[in-house]
Amino acid sequence: MNEVTSIAAQPDYSEAARKALAREPALFVDGQWVRSTHDRTIPVYDPSTGRQIASIVDASDADVDRAVAAARRAFDDGRWSGLPPYRRQRLIEKLADLIEANIAELAELESIDNGKPRAASQGYDLPKSVETLRYMAGWTTKISGEHVEPNGVPVGTIHAYVRREPIGVAAQIVPWNFPLMMAVQKIAPALAAGCTLVLKPAEQTPLTALRLADLVAEAGIPAGVVNVVTGMGETAGDRLVRHPDVDKVAFTGSTEVGKIINRAATDTLKRVTLELGGKSPVIVLPDVDIQGTARGAAASIFSNSGQVCIAGSRLFAHKDIFDSLLEAVASNAAQWKVGPSLAPDTRMGPLVSTEQHERVLSYIEQGRKAGATILHGGDGPGGDGYFVNPTILVDVKPDMAVVREEIFGPVLTAQRYEDLDEVAKAANDTPYGLAASIWTRDVSAMHKLAARLKAGMVWGNCPAAADTALPFGGYKQSGFGREQGRYGIEAYTELKTVAIAL
Ligand code: NAD
Repeated sequence: MNEVTSIAAQPDYSEAARKALAREPALFVDGQWVRSTHDRTIPVYDPSTGRQIASIVDASDADVDRAVAAARRAFDDGRWSGLPPYRRQRLIEKLADLIEANIAELAELESIDNGKPRAASQGYDLPKSVETLRYMAGWTTKISGEHVEPNGVPVGTIHAYVRREPIGVAAQIVPWNFPLMMAVQKIAPALAAGCTLVLKPAEQTPLTALRLADLVAEAGIPAGVVNVVTGMGETAGDRLVRHPDVDKVAFTGSTEVGKIINRAATDTLKRVTLELGGKSPVIVLPDVDIQGTARGAAASIFSNSGQVCIAGSRLFAHKDIFDSLLEAVASNAAQWKVGPSLAPDTRMGPLVSTEQHERVLSYIEQGRKAGATILHGGDGPGGDGYFVNPTILVDVKPDMAVVREEIFGPVLTAQRYEDLDEVAKAANDTPYGLAASIWTRDVSAMHKLAARLKAGMVWGNCPAAADTALPFGGYKQSGFGREQGRYGIEAYTELKTVAIAL
């Protein structure tokens, strides 16, 4: 069992964070902070303490309609899509510069709100957000169509070309696990493509998206181009998805809600991209360096307390190295110090909410009752926050819920296998298909296995290599469409064929 038995106190918040937490609940619409049409608010908690720290607007239908109307006007009058591409690029870069200039404040706020260690916010989420904006800003000046020679008419009689145009108004709904980074990964390609948007952060973690809106205004991005609406998914989110003036929905979150959104968006045949859940395999061949692979496997599941769609939650280790690898992963797990988000030595913060805390602990209990053995962790270390210790389950069977369902917490299941054929089948035996990692020095086995895995992303000898330039998204029930890279930009464009008789 894990030796962590007590949790340190959450250090005091800075003056800047206290100011951000004290702001009046408001929505960012048409370049202004506006009040809701009704008085409903949603409490926001610090998951490291369980204490309420702020309140946000629970947007009404009228609030959502107002935000969509602002985005619609801003798209239709061309104040954004009509700007010289280079000017748009510079404005997106300005937003990146402002985030960079405020990294310490945003990172603290993100950690207070989500529970992730400040070192992770400051060292990963925030720099990645800046990088994404700068990368996508570069595409602004490089989106282009093509000239095509028609097939069935004499050459030179029809001048035909294909334009790539912005889709229009995008509704962007993001989850709580990487709040600012997910928001930026949505808004950056939309802005680069010339779209306008309404962003709805997760109700659990809205604080950095609200600060982002301040910076959007400060950057000089025209009013109405970016609107931020806080509220519940089933009300504000649903209203956005069904709104007739929304042209595209981009969603990251659970597979269950992705299906609801896809159905709701069908009535108006909106363009939809979905980044959903996963149950990603980590496949270890017998020739690996055990210590290095154990470090990677632990990072793959314990980073962000396992609340990562691409978390490597199912470990498949070859029978010859199973025992030694698991011993090394367990000793690595003990180094993931659990603690409050702002404590400097915390490596794994709490889960995001009391619901998530209960859900993860109940999965562990369910696994135990079904016959799994807890090799490490399996409990919470106490404290008022939503902490769960890094957990490793062995003696699991393929039909157990802990092996089949996305737990979205720091829980690893480990199974042994004998040959590549068997492990490829077992790895693919899931409704998900987001990511996979393969660990081996055998190049041939690596490529053979990479081709057999039904996953949108396969990484070799590293826990994850998600990159702004590489397509990100899943097979099967992990969603459809791709974010990041050229594909991410193209997902915010429509093709128009123009053919003119000469
Ligand atoms: P969730 O699906 O409950 O919520 C995500 C967002 O959707 C929130 O903003 C929420 O308010 C909104 N929402 C909820 N119901 C809605 C509805 N009916 N209509 C419109 N919007 C609605 O997910 P969560 O619990 O916040 O996040 C955890 C899940 O997200 C996990 O299952 C995880 O795998 C998945 N996830 C996937 C990725 C990815 O890139 N594939 C990334 C992060 C998280």
